[in-house]
Amino acid sequence: MTVRLICDFDGTISERDMITTIMERFAPEESKPIIEAVKQGRRTVKDGVEAMFQLIPSDQYDEVARFAQDHTRVRHGFPQFIHTCAQLGWKLSVVSGGFDFFVLPIIHKFSTGAVDIYCNHLDTSGRRLHVQWSHPCDPACEGGCGLCKPSVIRELVQPGDSVIVIGDGVTDFKAAQMADFVFARAQLLALVEERGIPHLPFTTFDDIVAAIDDREASLHAYIQ
Ligand SMILES: [Zn+2]
Repeated sequence: MTVRLICDFDGTISERDMITTIMERFAPEESKPIIEAVKQGRRTVKDGVEAMFQLIPSDQYDEVARFAQDHTRVRHGFPQFIHTCAQLGWKLSVVSGGFDFFVLPIIHKFSTGAVDIYCNHLDTSGRRLHVQWSHPCDPACEGGCGLCKPSVIRELVQPGDSVIVIGDGVTDFKAAQMADFVFARAQLLALVEERGIPHLPFTTFDDIVAAIDDREASLHAYIQ
């Protein structure tokens, strides 16, 4: 029996959503209606993200990657959080709808190794950037995720494992419904409250470490 933490990247480990930040810089006008349509549920995340990167010519990839790395700010307490998980033998997986060119350098900067990373890749062989999803939806998912967090959880989790999901957005909600316990902020917090899913709010990773360290915290009633 293992405690598994499934942690989102954009808006969770990083303070801001990097895909939105990239679009504000490289395709501000054309991306706006696409972002709105995804927010309102008129377009799937998969479809919206693919359409947005199609707006950017492939020869701007290096500039996009550099910009993303320069503009990622990590939420406070993340290094200590990795350390705490490792000490307890809890398995941390970063499961991101974002891309290798900003997720990998940031995680590798803070971790000594024991973090699984799931993220996506941009194909630059065509005229415009083309999204390659590393983990598309499996038949058990209704589809449209892009990187499908429920599929990753189904692949990772063994019977008897405890699952903790950490996230901030609507893209984390399907995963949160599969969790024993959720640490939530922003939109995800409202969604898990509404559904009565066991959770605690967090602002920084210090809050999560404090709950893990406090044997009286509600978290410990839900995991084994
Ligand atoms: Zn899916």
